Order: sequence, then C-alpha cells, then structure tokens
Amino acid sequence: MLQQTQVSRVLEPWRRFVNAFPTPKDCAEAPLSSVLQLWAGLGYHRRAKALHEAAKTIRDEFAGEVPSSVAALRSLPGVGEYTANAVASFAFDQKVAVLDTNVGRVLARAIANRTLSSAEARDLATRLLPKSGVASFNQAMLDLGAQHCKAAPACERCPVARVCRWKNEGGDDPAPQSAGVSRRQSTFEGSDRQLRGKVLALLRENDAEFRTVRKRLATSDKSRVDSIVEGLLRDGLIERRATRLRLAQS
Ligand code: SF4
Repeated sequence: MLQQTQVSRVLEPWRRFVNAFPTPKDCAEAPLSSVLQLWAGLGYHRRAKALHEAAKTIRDEFAGEVPSSVAALRSLPGVGEYTANAVASFAFDQKVAVLDTNVGRVLARAIANRTLSSAEARDLATRLLPKSGVASFNQAMLDLGAQHCKAAPACERCPVARVCRWKNEGGDDPAPQSAGVSRRQSTFEGSDRQLRGKVLALLRENDAEFRTVRKRLATSDKSRVDSIVEGLLRDGLIERRATRLRLAQS
C-alpha cells in the first residue's frame, strides 16, 4: 500500500484491510472483488491484485506465514527489492538496507555529494548499516528523507546538517538523477490513471452495463473509455459477462 503512496492516505484503508483480513489466508480466500472494494482511495490497483496473489502464495507455499528472508519475500507477486527489504528489516529485524526515494536523496546529498548509480546507492546504504538497531536506523533514514531532505530540502532544521557533505561542500543538487530517487509523477487530473480509478469506483457500487459506464464517465472520448476498460480487463481487475462489467472475482 505504501508503494508510491503517502502514509496519511494509507492509514484508513490499512485499518479497513486488516480488520477484514487479519491473516494472509483470510485475504487469499476472499474474492479479488472484496480486496478491490477495500482498496478504495489507494489507486494503482494492480498492487491490490498482486497483494491478493501474494496472499495466495503465502497460504499455499509458506503455510500461511509471511516468509522472513529477502529471497523468499522477493518470490511473492508484486514484491520488489524495496518492499522485500522493508518487510525483512521492520518485521523480522534482518540486517538489510531499505532504499527508497527518501533514502536515495539522503545518500546522494549527505553522504556522497554526487549522483549515485543503483549499485553505488545499494552498496553505500548497506555499508552504513550499524551492527545493531538496523530497523531503527532504516526508519531514521526514511524519516530524514521524508521530513527534512525532501525534493526541496529543509536544511535549516535538519539534524544532520553539520555533517552533510552537500550542505557543507556545495555544488549542484546530486539527488534528482541519483538511483532510487523517483522522478516527478505525471499529473493525475485527466490522466488514464484517474479514469481507471473512476471505472473501478463505479463498479465498486455495482455491476454495470458497458454503455452505462461510458455514459456515467461523462467524457466525450468514447474510444478512450473503451481502451481503459480493455486495460482493466487485461490486468484482470474487472470481468465482462456479455454486455455487463463487474469487479474480477479471482
Ligand atoms: S542538510 Fe539539507 S541536504 Fe543535507 S541531509 Fe539535511 S536536508 Fe538533506
């Protein structure tokens, strides 16, 4: 849920989700449509399908327990390096670095004062890990990037300003092109992402005739709606029964 989404937006859906599905098995045995219902407000709906698939894999291949090793976590659908390392560190206290866009900025600015490649950022993040308290260290790095070392950094109240290389040595900002640092997201308003969300919001209310979906989306570009619906069908997020559409069941 936290991939590309701020904590404040995740809190409420997260509570709904864990109340409905206290264990991976509960999630695995629910239809995908229930998972998509609970995903309301989060966007990037392919993550919901991947999470449902991951829950089924955990039920079938890991006896219902979330695995603790990075390699096993990486085998789950939708789980990449960042998510696997974050779960391994925060849930299982493994000694692995968590490298996201926030940490990427801190590494490039405070530690290296130069643009870092993926391998360099990963290597540097790993070398910085303390002998103990790794989860706290990772959390501190994430918070430093989220609260102070933002895209527009707030150096004046930053707790590491005294030792930050970029602050002290100067030069061009090394963060924007560095590994792990996200590029600015495209505008949401009027995007395909927004239209996909609207189709799914309609189908959360009820199954609907394709022509009703077209009408209610109130866009003059019917072919765009058609291609959005085709994309959702291809992604396995919705199903078509004759002329009707509904949220996918599995
Ligand atoms: S001093 Fe500024 S650039 Fe350096 S880590 Fe803090 S916020 Fe980032």
